[in-house]
Amino acid sequence: MENSSGQSINLALSFRGREALRAVGLEDIVVKQYGTSMRGRMLHDKNGNLKEVLYDSVKGNCIYSISRRRLNIILLDAAEKYPKVQVNFNKKLVDADLEKGKMKFLNMKTGAMENADADLIIGADEFLDLICKKFAMNGKNLHIWPRGEFMMTSLPNEDHTFTGNLFAPFHVLEKLKTPVTLLRFYTEHFPDLLRLIGEQSLVQQFFEKEPQTLISIKCEPYHVGKTALIIGDAAHAMVPFYAQGMNTGFEDVLLLDELMECYNSDFAKILPKFSELRCDDGHAICDLAMYNYLEVYL
Ligand SMILES: Cc1cc2nc3c(=O)[nH]c(=O)nc-3n(C[C@H](O)[C@H](O)[C@H](O)COP(=O)(O)OP(=O)(O)OC[C@H]3O[C@@H](n4cnc5c(N)ncnc54)[C@H](O)[C@@H]3O)c2cc1C
Repeated sequence: MENSSGQSINLALSFRGREALRAVGLEDIVVKQYGTSMRGRMLHDKNGNLKEVLYDSVKGNCIYSISRRRLNIILLDAAEKYPKVQVNFNKKLVDADLEKGKMKFLNMKTGAMENADADLIIGADEFLDLICKKFAMNGKNLHIWPRGEFMMTSLPNEDHTFTGNLFAPFHVLEKLKTPVTLLRFYTEHFPDLLRLIGEQSLVQQFFEKEPQTLISIKCEPYHVGKTALIIGDAAHAMVPFYAQGMNTGFEDVLLLDELMECYNSDFAKILPKFSELRCDDGHAICDLAMYNYLEVYL
């Protein structure tokens, strides 16, 4: 779990994700105990001026910032309480016969190959591997510094600090290889933020991690026969500008659960129905995530 912050440290949890957590009795712990509410976007221009855009000015609904690591712990702890659930780490799927339900795993600790059989394989590994200073800001918003081709975003943490992400094309990132070029870039484009973070802290944190690529995936169908299905980012990885990737993955699970109930766990009926009901939605949310970049950030 120590490296589980993964692609971002915090995630924005919205209605569709909450619905799925509610179905498994985890909504309250995630939202009330560990969630930090965000009532809207706070846009920061180059001169430090602020503009707040509320998510719901009528009913006051908000989204919640939740630590990715904390969420992973809550979900894993809950899963482990089911006696039939066995959690395996450090086992990489290297091959699969999706029609026969056969899989080959590489044990990353021992280097040994392990075979496994299943009636149903649900692939949720990333990107289709299987088949193809604490600063004084309002902690009630998702903060955004839109600068056209690139931007900074920041989500509140449980301890009232914030975690920021810089989104930029590689040709911009390639120019930020030294502390001097980094500080010059922030002085020009994010002067207010630089004051809040502090030069030393920015340099230290920025060079701690390698930049990661953003990917958007649309595919169809999401199933193979009656033995294999992909869900989550494996099926519909999207750019993070709509903050819906995790939420949509949770919704996949909710739909799958409903279909299991409806078709009495008959995978031959459930899997094609899942593709039929879910592919258009998956493609639409990938498009919406991309459009939201144009709408909110440019
Ligand atoms: C910067 C950023 C910010 C984001 N912010 C938000 C947000 O605010 N709200 C939101 O809803 N979404 C957000 N997302 C999207 C969200 O992170 C993803 O949608 C979500 O993590 C997908 O979950 P997943 O379980 O489908 O896939 P992943 O989280 O990618 O998990 C896949 C797992 O599969 C494992 N794996 C990979 N290959 C193999 C293999 N061959 N064998 C075995 N295991 C394997 C990986 O190690 C990993 O543990 C953001 C994404 C990014 C990049």
